[in-house]
Amino acid sequence: MTKPYYETQNGLDFTCTRCGRCCERPGPVFFSDDDLDRAAAFEKITPKAFVKRHGLIEVDGIHALDLPDGTPCSFFDKLKGCQIYEGRPIQCKTWPFWKEVVTRKDSWNRAAEECPGMNQGEHHTPTEIREAIDACKNQGLPEGDAW
Ligand code: SF4
Ligand code: SF4
Repeated sequence: MTKPYYETQNGLDFTCTRCGRCCERPGPVFFSDDDLDRAAAFEKITPKAFVKRHGLIEVDGIHALDLPDGTPCSFFDKLKGCQIYEGRPIQCKTWPFWKEVVTRKDSWNRAAEECPGMNQGEHHTPTEIREAIDACKNQGLPEGDAW
C-alpha cells in the first residue's frame, strides 16, 4: 500500500499564523458530543442551549454550524479571532492534520494555498499526525473528499 504523504515526509510543518482564513471559508463546523460539552461549558450553558443559541443543525448525524458560503463562522471575530478558542471543536484543533489533507501531496499543497501556517513553523511527527487523524475519527467526524 502506498504510504500517506505525511509519512513519506517523516512529518509535516505547521504553525498557525492566526490569519483567520480557515474560519471564513465555506463548509460545516462539526461539533461532536464531546465538542458540544466543551463548547457549552466554555459559554457556561448546557449543550442543548448551545445548540439552540448558535442554530446548530444535524449534518451527517452530527451537530454542525452550517452557514451559507461567504458567511464566516459565527464564533469568528475579525479582530479577536475565535471567540470560543479554549472550547473550539476538535475539527479546528486538529487542522490541517485531517486525513483528506495529509494523505496526498497534491491535497496538502492545495490546502497550503489557503493556509499560510502550513509548510512553515513547528515540525509535527507522523505519530502526532496520526493522533490528530484518529481524534477526528474517534469523535465520529465524517471524512471529507480529498482536497
Ligand atoms: S488559515 Fe491556517 S494559518 Fe490561518 S488561522 Fe487558519 S489554520 Fe491558522
Ligand atoms: S470554531 Fe473558532 S476556530 Fe473553529 S472555525 Fe469557528 S472561529 Fe474558527
